Amino acid sequence: MRLVLVGPPGAGKGTQADFLAAHLSVPKISTGDIFRANVSQGTPLGLEAKRYMDSGGLVPDEVTINMVRERLAETDAADGFLLDGFPRTVPQAVALDKMLADNGTSLDLVLELVVDNDEVIRRLAGRRTCHTCKRIWHIEFDPPTYNGSCDNCGGELYQRDDDKPETVAERLRVYARDTSPLVDHYAAQGKLVGIDATGPVEDVTERAIDALRSYSA
Ligand SMILES: [Zn+2]
Repeated sequence: MRLVLVGPPGAGKGTQADFLAAHLSVPKISTGDIFRANVSQGTPLGLEAKRYMDSGGLVPDEVTINMVRERLAETDAADGFLLDGFPRTVPQAVALDKMLADNGTSLDLVLELVVDNDEVIRRLAGRRTCHTCKRIWHIEFDPPTYNGSCDNCGGELYQRDDDKPETVAERLRVYARDTSPLVDHYAAQGKLVGIDATGPVEDVTERAIDALRSYSA
């Protein structure tokens, strides 16, 4: 099965991607992993991407698309894959459609993890990270015994910039701007399935697996 997973920051996409890829016996292909692999192996695409990242710029679509194309050409992805973090925009989705069509295949399904903005803010803005051991706590869902210090090591807890409510709100704005059109793109192809991604992780996985089952039935 050829699958794309989309969802806002804080939707638990990485965790679900791991479970679903294992369930389907397909490789999980995340852009983060591909980037790190290309950069650490010093491939031409990796070096090019690194130049952009080092200068604080965004890696252009073309570089990302070429990395994904090379990764999808590897043998383990021949019969299926789960893409996590790609495509992120409509031009990337169009490029993906084309590279699959060139190989005589196409995507089977796009799973969208649906979580409303208030829930995302509650999940991310409640996170506190330990200065010393880096463990992540949550003031509501996984609180330490004493406010402000780590049960593990006694270290001081702080809120990472990424988890500040204003940063989370900005990430959600970017997601809505770039990804809503992507969702529409796949809905128009009849490939989009939305999954309620609130509640316990296992429940979300179960909903996703149900959706995949009714698709293949
Ligand atoms: Zn700690």
